[in-house]
Amino acid sequence: MSACGRFAPSTTGRAHPGTLLAALLCWLDARSSGARVLLRLEDLDRERTKPGHVEAMERDLDWFGLDWDGRSRQSENRERHEEILERLVREGRVYACDCSRTRIRMAGRRAPDGGFAYPGTCRSQVVSPDRWRGCERPLRLRIESREIEWSDENGSTLSGDPVRLFGDPILRRRDGAIAYHLATVLDDAAAGVDRVVRGRDLMPVTILQIALQQDLGLARPAYRHHCLFLEKAEAGSDADGQTKLSKLHGAVDVAALRERYEAEALCGALASFVGLVPAGTVCRPRDLIADFDWSRVSKEDVVLAWDARDGLRRERACEGEAGAGGAGIRRG
Ligand code: GLU
Repeated sequence: MSACGRFAPSTTGRAHPGTLLAALLCWLDARSSGARVLLRLEDLDRERTKPGHVEAMERDLDWFGLDWDGRSRQSENRERHEEILERLVREGRVYACDCSRTRIRMAGRRAPDGGFAYPGTCRSQVVSPDRWRGCERPLRLRIESREIEWSDENGSTLSGDPVRLFGDPILRRRDGAIAYHLATVLDDAAAGVDRVVRGRDLMPVTILQIALQQDLGLARPAYRHHCLFLEKAEAGSDADGQTKLSKLHGAVDVAALRERYEAEALCGALASFVGLVPAGTVCRPRDLIADFDWSRVSKEDVVLAWDARDGLRRERACEGEAGAGGAGIRRG
């Protein structure tokens, strides 16, 4: 059986340059090595996934020139997700959580993803098999303390105890939606995904996903986390006078990109920003397969600027600021 990767965008809005970069790198990783690659549209956030978002994401990826060995919507897997949740409830491992965000923040333990670690306050409120479906509070899984040592194919390492770093993960949100970490590890395992290629901003939470895989008896895929496109944040600079950077989300979405670029010009521009081709190259994703090699992809995040007339401009590379700061994480 050949290796299998997946691209799993959240469908909470239109694609942006970072979405297309992540899709391109994940797709090239698979296509250049003979692996299969699946598109999984992560549409579980009912509030933020508006009508038409899923279709727009698919259309934009088609337009960009990517093809897939299978396509699915995560919401199609609801029954399977709930079966596993039911099993965990029956095992007495799931509890209802009453803590507000403010309360968790007040406990004061920073998590590696920039949020706050959950201190385990509600652990005793185990839910029973006849009550969990009607429960209007978030459901959390009690996970055990243990040291996880792990490194990705980029050589970045992350180690620590998931309970200390993050606390027990939410499995089902207050609104009844299955939470990202659970859905992701279940769907990767069910589809036979053994390679996860995704942006470096998700690297810190990988340790939590590995803990879930261990506790649910699922295989661990190989991971690779790649560089991000960043932009100057609107807030300007922080207290040290450093320019603040954030993921390139706000400035431009693919609707604006499609007004400015033909697909081939955009593909060439994005590939050139991360070092895959010289600036000015015009190409389709498939033209990049033959020469693709991860050693040619920038290890550093790339700061871009956008204006509607000139398009995207590469300003500079920068040693990772978004995502990988935190306990136990070392960049490779
Ligand atoms: N849906 C997630 C996102 O778009 C990514 C999921 C993943 O790659 O694990 O940020």
